[in-house]
Amino acid sequence: MNTDLPTSSDVRRTLPSVDQILNWPIIHELTKHHGRSLTKQIISDELSRLRANSEPCDPDQFVERVQQQLHALLAPSLRKVFNLTGTVLHTNLGRAPLPEEAISAMCDVARGASNLEFDLAKGKRGDRDSHVEDWLCRLTGAEAATVVNNNAAAVLLTLNTLAKGKEVLVSRGELVEIGGAFRVPDIMRRAQAKLHEVGTTNRTHLRDYAEAISSKTGLLMTIHASNYAIQGFTASVPEAQIAQVAHEQGLPYAIDLGSGSLIDMRQWGLPYEPTPMDSIANGADLITFSGDKLLGGPQAGIIVGKRALIDKLKKNPLKRALRCDKVTLAALEAVLKLYAHPENLAARLPSLRWLSRPQHDIRQQVNRLLPLFQAWAGDVAQASVIDVMGQIGSGSLPVERLPSSAIALQPTAGKRGANKQLQRLQSALMKLPVPVIGRLHDGRLLLDLRCLDEEQLLIDQLQARPFT
Ligand SMILES: *Cc1c(COP(=O)(O)O)cnc(C)c1O
Repeated sequence: MNTDLPTSSDVRRTLPSVDQILNWPIIHELTKHHGRSLTKQIISDELSRLRANSEPCDPDQFVERVQQQLHALLAPSLRKVFNLTGTVLHTNLGRAPLPEEAISAMCDVARGASNLEFDLAKGKRGDRDSHVEDWLCRLTGAEAATVVNNNAAAVLLTLNTLAKGKEVLVSRGELVEIGGAFRVPDIMRRAQAKLHEVGTTNRTHLRDYAEAISSKTGLLMTIHASNYAIQGFTASVPEAQIAQVAHEQGLPYAIDLGSGSLIDMRQWGLPYEPTPMDSIANGADLITFSGDKLLGGPQAGIIVGKRALIDKLKKNPLKRALRCDKVTLAALEAVLKLYAHPENLAARLPSLRWLSRPQHDIRQQVNRLLPLFQAWAGDVAQASVIDVMGQIGSGSLPVERLPSSAIALQPTAGKRGANKQLQRLQSALMKLPVPVIGRLHDGRLLLDLRCLDEEQLLIDQLQARPFT
């Protein structure tokens, strides 16, 4: 046996104790900045690791590892990224960016007390919906409105309030799953409502609804199949006709619009998206839609419609469980007020500014940044400019695409190495201080610049950290 080498039990015996290490001057400084308990946990984990590997303790290395781990643990997990995917309202990347008006309103109420549920005119308890209800009614023409955490919650609350223990008639063609595991039949079950499918996947007629109505029916519902389209031999029933059939039988009619826009998007060259105003005009009693899709606001579920039904929703204990917080309401109020001045909207609402950005403008930016990306990638990839099709995202009309322009990074390696290089390029971009998210397509990494606002920040970090 070679007695010169330390055995594992020697190493264990020579390891310093947690308390000894806490007294090292540098570590002591760290505890002042980051707290004793967190630093102590990391030291103790690090010692366990050395013990398990029978490694001796090198003080310099030890301190460095503790610093690294503190840094990694304390760095924010939720942080901003560059969305260069070409999908504007990207659910995985936080959907709608908020306008400055909303951000500043959020900060104001976040810092201290607010009149969230306090009526300043009467000096008594108020209703948190009051901050947005009036504007929702003004903008949509509805009698009343309420808000919950997201549109899935809005649908849940609507179903549970109007159709608990009853049947809900829905066209078979609308029994969809929408991104993020929102499945109509599942929500229906959770709301304790019974789904009654009418018609067929591709064709549903008015008589299908009329024949399905019975004493068990509680609600007729239309779900805007936002993330797919049925094409070919199809038929669906106009909202106005479903409303008429429902009302003849004294039943309510609800429409889940999903995205729902408060203005006609065609004025910015975008595809038409159904609006709550249209649905109200067609006779719907309740309409639900998201706050952070085309509306361009915070995550919220908006419900507008008949006063008597909104009052019922507000009395459901589920409303209490699904209500929005003050920060969301502050942002939503600010965003709704931007709609008072539609002519200015594209300038002030970042989601609409991105959605309506002309291709030639994006292409100019792409041309400007092409040399930067080529320099960043070095000889690992060839950068070029290509025209691409982007998407609105969040289930809005998937068949409609946004003409855009992108930088394409094509690996220079041969077929076998190319895939690896592509992945390394992608991962290097995601490791930047503000991660850059592109999309892989056809052996290339595409960086669609439609949503790039902070150009200088991108330039600085690419220059600071070249790939090669
Ligand atoms: C997106 C969507 C939902 C879910 O809305 P969230 O705000 O994501 O909860 C529900 N219904 C339809 C039709 C949708 O498009």
